[in-house]
Amino acid sequence: MAVYAAPVISSHGGWLGIVVVMHDITELIRLERVRKDFVANVSHELRTPVTSIKGFSETLLDGAVHDPKTAVQFLEIIHRESGRLEALIEDLLDLSRIEKEGFRLELTDVNVHGVLQQAVRIVSGRMKERGMQLFLHCPENLEVKADENRLVQIFVNLVVNAVAYSKPDTDIRITAEASGGMARISVEDHGIGIPEQELSRLFERFYRVDRARSRDSGGTGLGLAIVKHLVDLHGGTIGVESRLGEGSVFTVRIPLVRPME
Ligand code: ADP
Repeated sequence: MAVYAAPVISSHGGWLGIVVVMHDITELIRLERVRKDFVANVSHELRTPVTSIKGFSETLLDGAVHDPKTAVQFLEIIHRESGRLEALIEDLLDLSRIEKEGFRLELTDVNVHGVLQQAVRIVSGRMKERGMQLFLHCPENLEVKADENRLVQIFVNLVVNAVAYSKPDTDIRITAEASGGMARISVEDHGIGIPEQELSRLFERFYRVDRARSRDSGGTGLGLAIVKHLVDLHGGTIGVESRLGEGSVFTVRIPLVRPME
């Protein structure tokens, strides 16, 4: 709480009283802490790949370049780490774009089945690499008021995570239906699951249950924060249920075009 007090004096110099202004700054302090944490996180996330790129390129310049086998190995690391930097910068720019005041979705009537098919197509290569199969159950006529590209982005992110945090050769199931004026779309995996105490923080920027696993899968730690913000912009909701060692279900609700469906 910040308190400001000032005496009130009449034009004749007489004492009239005191004006006291009390301002609740709890929220301001919280926001300032969030901002500082974010800057610290970004710096840390950027520093890790940069340190690696610098280190390996210096070793190459110091002579390792003359051993072709080592050179290829180091160049592969440099290539992978610059890809990580690129993904992080793209996610940061996208997050800042969609969080900016005045950002508007391009809302049209969008067919959910078509969106889910697009998302699945984009992730199908990764699924095949891991021997995973995806089952899609969605009525052909389900239509939502949405920004089509952003809706595809939401489900690409969720399916990429379902693939990254599952064991090879397991299944992913996407189920969509109309429910209470909304399209209810669930992405279910049989993966590593998420401990219950972590669920409430999952949509925070850079929050990860297992940092090493996220890095290995090429994650930036921003995917779910972007997904949550996009779902909010659509006037929808997102929730997650999970059992450690058994799998997770992420459920998105987006307003239907014709809510009576
Ligand atoms: P990342 O780039 O690390 O995947 P996200 O914001 O997409 O970042 O997800 C945040 C964290 O939530 C992940 O690091 C992971 O720990 C956890 N997570 C997300 N999706 C799943 C899932 N389907 N199964 C298990 N854990 C998940």
